[in-house]
Amino acid sequence: MTNTPTGQVVIKQWNEVQDRINTAMSVAGRTPNDVLLIAVSKLHPIEKIRQLFEHGQLHFGENKVQELVPKMEQSAINVVWHMIGGLQTNKIRHMASRVDWIHSVPKKKALDEIEKRASEAGRVINALIQVNISEEDQKSGCDPEDLKALLSESRAYKHLVVRGLMGMASLEHDPEIVRPQFRLLRELRDEYRTMNEGSLLLEHLSMGMTNDMEVAIQEGSTMVRVGTAIFGERD
Ligand SMILES: *Cc1c(COP(=O)(O)O)cnc(C)c1O
Repeated sequence: MTNTPTGQVVIKQWNEVQDRINTAMSVAGRTPNDVLLIAVSKLHPIEKIRQLFEHGQLHFGENKVQELVPKMEQSAINVVWHMIGGLQTNKIRHMASRVDWIHSVPKKKALDEIEKRASEAGRVINALIQVNISEEDQKSGCDPEDLKALLSESRAYKHLVVRGLMGMASLEHDPEIVRPQFRLLRELRDEYRTMNEGSLLLEHLSMGMTNDMEVAIQEGSTMVRVGTAIFGERD
């Protein structure tokens, strides 16, 4: 598969993304391995996931449960799967037996459902609280003003751990415009990590995509979610 033309293109683009990340990390004076690349494979076939996995990419992300579940079933057991898209509470049960990280948790009700379904599956799931950093109403996530209360209720779970915060910046042509949004997410993490206790373990910042990963890395991202730059445009 790696030898097919599409395979070679994806590997080449994946290498270019690694270069972009390494350059941004060194510009920011950060240690190269302190950021995790999540390859966002939505709307791309399982073959591309397999070939990239064989090439050493371990973490993959999807934004819809109905696409994530069959891909989880068809992928190698060692693939680490991240649910990164808007979360519907009633769909959590479909992925709880396999998904490793859920980035997009907006509220207590969703945390309770993850706890319940992970418990049934005998697992512990990593969760990130999605924060609405763009002040756009259509972007989902917890309002920054409500975050402290949600985090204080996040400390008593047994089958999930809240590992950090996730944010989606507004879509801008110039990524500099979204820098304050990423900075806000980092400041919230820094402020509230003093609350860490039990199942609250704030550490990660999931922020940065194809267009804005450099700025996100400069602002402290520990997980970048990159689709287009690796796999090409989606249909
Ligand atoms: C699609 C998607 C990405 C990746 O976006 P690209 O611009 O293709 O890199 C990242 N995060 C979320 C939540 C997404 O839905």
